[in-house]
Amino acid sequence: MEREELTNHAVEKAGRVYAWLDTQIREHPNAAGRCDACGKCCDFETFDHRLFVTPPELMYLAAKSGSENIEPMPTGRCPYNVVIACSIYEYRFAGCRIFCCKGDKDFQSALSESALEKFKAICTELGIPYRYSPLADALNGFADIR
Ligand code: SF4
Ligand code: SF4
Repeated sequence: MEREELTNHAVEKAGRVYAWLDTQIREHPNAAGRCDACGKCCDFETFDHRLFVTPPELMYLAAKSGSENIEPMPTGRCPYNVVIACSIYEYRFAGCRIFCCKGDKDFQSALSESALEKFKAICTELGIPYRYSPLADALNGFADIR
């Protein structure tokens, strides 16, 4: 499969995972919790929070926002956390969609497990090496090879 075709497949499938996730969250508002979009959890060190991402999620972000917009992450804060708001909100990662400081942790864990299985299946189907990387490693690694 050509690289462009492979990327298109991965992006389309990742989009379906995000749509599925968004539906799950919408249909379970009490368990999902209400996020006030204060941006505090996007400063991982200060908030003591972690975000891990998979290759299809990065491919999705690069395809939708442009690979030149894959930012390195030199600090403990997500580079897309700009003056509170998320600058890539529409294309944000699965963990960003799932995590809510006011949400039910069991609900979030189950959703994360299911989403990861789906991302892993995309990698297996398309022959993409599967990784589950801390956001900083994923972004900094992408910046190195572009
Ligand atoms: S991608 Fe957006 S929502 Fe996710 S950690 Fe970064 S700023 Fe926060
Ligand atoms: S999950 Fe909580 S800390 Fe994170 S942006 Fe929403 S309200 Fe703020």
